[in-house]
Amino acid sequence: MVFTHDTEEALQATVALVNAAEPPVTLTTVAELDAFFVRHGYTGRHDSTRAELDEVLALQAPLRELLTADRDAAARLVNKMLADAGAVPQLVRHPPLDWHIHAVPSDAPLATRILVETAMAMIDVIRDDELSRLAVCADSDCEGIVLDLSRNRSRRYCSTTCSNRNAQAAHRARRTQPRSHRSR
Ligand SMILES: [Zn+2]
Ligand SMILES: [Zn+2]
Repeated sequence: MVFTHDTEEALQATVALVNAAEPPVTLTTVAELDAFFVRHGYTGRHDSTRAELDEVLALQAPLRELLTADRDAAARLVNKMLADAGAVPQLVRHPPLDWHIHAVPSDAPLATRILVETAMAMIDVIRDDELSRLAVCADSDCEGIVLDLSRNRSRRYCSTTCSNRNAQAAHRARRTQPRSHRSR
């Protein structure tokens, strides 16, 4: 593990939220938000309304800005997000997790909690100087965000769709250049 468990889960959820804006666009219905809530292990308040969905979708642009910022800019954004939300870190314990940190109450709006959880997770990323774990997809037509939590930092594409498409393109390129000697 590169970061603590809750930091990695928060980063994965945030990247999924930001990437939902990329084609094919997802997270367009309350039902899809319900599935997102369950898939990423959220607890606490969940209104399941269009208004809540709109608030969550409004996070995509500022979260994308945070995830792609350089280290100093990211630190400033995190500080502002935490201050604006009146975040107060508290140790909490609720099933299925042991003691971990919440910085806003569990009855705060879902969008507020996603924003604050992301900011708290980015504290670890910034403090550990690991912003290179976050990048834009290596596919030339894709703006998706890649979160690389692998030990050998091997992840270059945001999705299996992108990695498969590029693997096929590389394969075709090799077949049209049979004489080139490539190491792999
Ligand atoms: Zn919790
Ligand atoms: Zn991609």
